[in-house]
Amino acid sequence: MQNTLKASVAFEGVGLHSGKPARMVLIPAPAGHGIVFKRTDIALGNTVVPARWDLVERSPLCTRLVNGSGVSVSTVEHIMAALAGCGVHNALIEIDGPEVPIVDGSSAPFVRGIMEHGVQRLAAPIMAYEILKPVTVEKDGARATLLPSDRLTIEFHIDFAEAAIGRQSKVLDMRNGSFARELCDSRTFCRQADVETMQANGLALGGKPGENAVVFDGERVESGAGLRHSDEPVRHKMLDALGDLALAGGPILGRYVGERAGHALTNTLLRALFAEPGAVRAVACDAAMTARLPGQGLIWSEIPAEQRRVA
Ligand SMILES: [Zn+2]
Repeated sequence: MQNTLKASVAFEGVGLHSGKPARMVLIPAPAGHGIVFKRTDIALGNTVVPARWDLVERSPLCTRLVNGSGVSVSTVEHIMAALAGCGVHNALIEIDGPEVPIVDGSSAPFVRGIMEHGVQRLAAPIMAYEILKPVTVEKDGARATLLPSDRLTIEFHIDFAEAAIGRQSKVLDMRNGSFARELCDSRTFCRQADVETMQANGLALGGKPGENAVVFDGERVESGAGLRHSDEPVRHKMLDALGDLALAGGPILGRYVGERAGHALTNTLLRALFAEPGAVRAVACDAAMTARLPGQGLIWSEIPAEQRRVA
């Protein structure tokens, strides 16, 4: 069955790229509502921004949703991953600024906030997207693929020149709370070489190395109290992939393979998937299918404990 939140939960903080503060409130919503953002700081026009793949604006560094009236919400991927990883299918997200708070750079504060109250079961089956045939997209040496499978598996490979990142690969079956246990506390990262370029382009203005992002500079790592996992970067890429795939509008039953992929390529993959005849179908999940979805089997004690919750 579909889920929503048992109670509203609020978070606040600055956006990673805009540096602008925002308060974000997750509010329970009925079955079939989906995940929908609403900008409460804009008085006029259509301020509702559904979390859907076809509203994603092409931007390489974060996932930004823009509705038909030009109203946007940026950096939605980490809250989308938290909701998907906790098995929350319906929520209204009121936000009074242009960008989701980056908090500690991971999804863990969101997961803790959501699971503190837990999820509420609703009287309607979960609609999932079953992958029926392989779809692949490639750009500039990066590749993203969806393959048929009876569950969501995320496989990721990265390869960076920075010695402290290097090559990292990981595969994870997303059942049994594995998102909360294995991925949710892995933080946003970047290379020192990229920081100045981003800031010159008006991005990463809210970034605080070691506090809400991990910065790699050759063999040097600015990571606060140290990395949370030795392969924290590839885990964060998997977190991003879960959040970006959640923009399909429901859980995906399939195997995602990302090779040096990023937000834009995963969105291109969803666009290719829905454009390809016979590549995907919407299915109402029975009990056995539901048991294989992310969020099933999530245990509070397995959620990493050290995160700061902002509000
Ligand atoms: Zn991210």
